[in-house]
Amino acid sequence: MSGLVIIGASYAGVHAGLGARGAGYSGPVTIVTDEQSLPYERPPLSKEFLLREVGEQNLVLRDDAFFAREKIDMLLDQRVTKVDLRARQLALQGGARLNFDKLVIATGSRARRIAIPGAELDGVSYLRTVADGINLRARLVRAAEIVIVGGGFVGLEVASSAAKLGKKVTVIEAASRLLERTASPVVSRFLLDAHAQAGVDVRLGETVVAISGSAGQVAVVDLRSGGRLGADLVVVGIGGIANDELASAAGLNCSNGVVVDEHGCTEVPGIYAAGDCANHYNRFAEDWIRLESVQHAQDHGKTAGLAIADSHQPYDSVPRFWSDQYDLKLQIAGLSGRCDQMVTRGSIEEGRFSVFHYRQGRMVGVDSINKPGDQMVARRLIAAGISLTPAQAADDLFDIKASLKAIDRAVVQSRDMPS
Ligand code: FAD
Repeated sequence: MSGLVIIGASYAGVHAGLGARGAGYSGPVTIVTDEQSLPYERPPLSKEFLLREVGEQNLVLRDDAFFAREKIDMLLDQRVTKVDLRARQLALQGGARLNFDKLVIATGSRARRIAIPGAELDGVSYLRTVADGINLRARLVRAAEIVIVGGGFVGLEVASSAAKLGKKVTVIEAASRLLERTASPVVSRFLLDAHAQAGVDVRLGETVVAISGSAGQVAVVDLRSGGRLGADLVVVGIGGIANDELASAAGLNCSNGVVVDEHGCTEVPGIYAAGDCANHYNRFAEDWIRLESVQHAQDHGKTAGLAIADSHQPYDSVPRFWSDQYDLKLQIAGLSGRCDQMVTRGSIEEGRFSVFHYRQGRMVGVDSINKPGDQMVARRLIAAGISLTPAQAADDLFDIKASLKAIDRAVVQSRDMPS
C-alpha cells in the first residue's frame, strides 16, 4: 500500500490529509506521528490547560471516528527516521518501512534549547507538547518562584497563567521590548503594563547567563547584569526551530525550514512540506519566511493537500496570530515588519484598541487588543490589497466596516468583466 503519506499529525498534517480528501484524492492516506496521542490543540497548553480550565480530553483536535470516516489511517507513536526519495519509502524507528507516492512533511518545530551552564538541571522546562504541558502544570502547582526566559508569546502566556495562580513570576527578555518580532511598540508597552499590574516583574534588555541548583534542582538564576533570582522553576520560551532535518538529510533544499513553492511543493515533484517546518515566499511579507501559527499551519497544509489532488490553489492567506493573556485578547492580522507609519484606533486606557501599520502608504498589518471587529475588517482588506488611509484608521467615528463594500464592488466588477 502506498498513496499519500504525511509525517506529522498536527494542524498542517491533518489539514493536508483533509485537503486532499476534500478535493477528491481517493488513494490511501496515512498520517504518521511520533506522538502517542491523536492530534491535539497546542495553544491551550500555555493558557487554559495550565490553569486546569481544560483537561487533556478537551484538547483533541479530531477523534478516531473522524479519521475513520475520512479514510485516513493514523500511525501513532511511530517516529520517521529516514526519507528515501528515490525509493519513495520512509523508514520508521522500529525498523518498519512505509512506501509512498506522494509525501507531505509536516514535522512542525521544536522549542529552542537554552545553552548556558545549569540548563540540564531539574526544573528547567519547555512547553511544546501535551507531555510538556502535563509536566509543567504539575510543577507550577509546587513552585513558588518562577523565572521565565523569553518575553514572546509562549513566555508571556505562561507568565499570565502563573500569575493567575498566585506565583511570584519574573520574565527575562533580552530585547528592549516584549514581543519585539511580532507586535508594535504600543502593544509591547501595553502588555508590559498589564503584566506589571498582575505583579509580574519583567526585566527588559536582560539575559540569563547561568542557572545553579541545589541537589540537582534549579535554585538560582544568574543574570548578565549581575543580579541573582531565586527560582524553583525556570520556563524557557525562546522561540522555535524547524524540524527540517529529515528533509535535509533526504537532500531537499532547506533554509530555516523546507523550501517550498506556492503550492507547498518542494523541488521534487510529489514531495510537499507545510506549516511550521516549511519556508515559503509570502506576498504579505514580500520575503521568504517561516511562520509559526495555527492559521498558517492549517491553510498551508490544506494548500498542499489540494495540490496533491490536482486542485492547485496558490497559498495566499493573510497571516494571523493570537495570544490570550489575563483578560486581554491580542490578535494580529498581516505582517508589519519594515513598516514606516503606525496609527492607533480606539482607547489604550480602556484596553480596546488597534494599531494599524503602513509600509509606503500600504496597510500591511493590524494588531488589536480586545477589538475583534477591527481584525475581521483588517483581514479582509489586507487580503484584497485595500488600505484605509491612516487618517481613516485613526478616526474612531469613521466606519471601517463600510470600507468592506469596496471589496464587494471589486468582486462584482470582476464578475461583470467580459472573459
Ligand atoms: P506541529 O504542531 O509542531 O506538529 C508537528 C508534528 O510532527 C508533531 O506532533 C511532531 O511530534 C511530529 N513529528 C516531527 N518529526 C517527526 C518524525 N520524524 N516522525 C513522526 N512525527 C514527527 N499558534 C497560534 O496561532 N495561536 C496561539 O495561541 C498559539 N499558542 C501556542 C502555544 C504553545 C504552548 C505552543 C507550543 C504553540 C502555540 N502556537 C500558537 C503555535 C502553533 O501551535 C503552531 O504554529 C502549530 O502547532 C504548527 O502546526 P504544525 O502542524 O506545522 O506543526
